[in-house]
Amino acid sequence: MPEPLMHFIVPFSVLIMCGIGIKKSAFLASLATLPDLDVLFHIHRSFSHSMLFVFLLCAPAIITATMKHSNRTYDAVIATLVILSHPFLDLFTYFTPIFWPLYNKSIYIVAEMTTNMNNVSQVHLLFDIKLKPMVFYHTISMDAPIFTSIGVAVTLVIMIGLALKHFWEGKLLRVKS
Ligand SMILES: [Zn+2]
Repeated sequence: MPEPLMHFIVPFSVLIMCGIGIKKSAFLASLATLPDLDVLFHIHRSFSHSMLFVFLLCAPAIITATMKHSNRTYDAVIATLVILSHPFLDLFTYFTPIFWPLYNKSIYIVAEMTTNMNNVSQVHLLFDIKLKPMVFYHTISMDAPIFTSIGVAVTLVIMIGLALKHFWEGKLLRVKS
């Protein structure tokens, strides 16, 4: 599974690209880690990874925001999309019950391309949609990484990119004024 750090940094960078401020992006992106709280109940990839469940949970917030604070509707929709990014990313790493209970199987999408270093023309493309009956089972013990080396590397590259963007934008503003 992508670790919480990856679940955070992917939507965070997208939100920043969409022009949302750093603090707000950080808050909204942190919501993407919520589906993995099912590990606290010793169940992983449970109903919290179902798009329908996430949508049903978020719908009252969207409706309330629309009825009472129309200026918050946009935030509620973005928060919902951010949380939905979690099961979407998980879908490409292991079996995820993304359409449960409408579809009672977990889905795992494998999309890989490899080559041979001795003959780069030997390209192997693997695309497979694997299905497994949905079973929520309780586990006594589970190793759950908070972050991994690749997650740290990706986060550092994105953070350095953001720092450079901030630096150049500041410099441009000084030149213009
Ligand atoms: Zn997950």
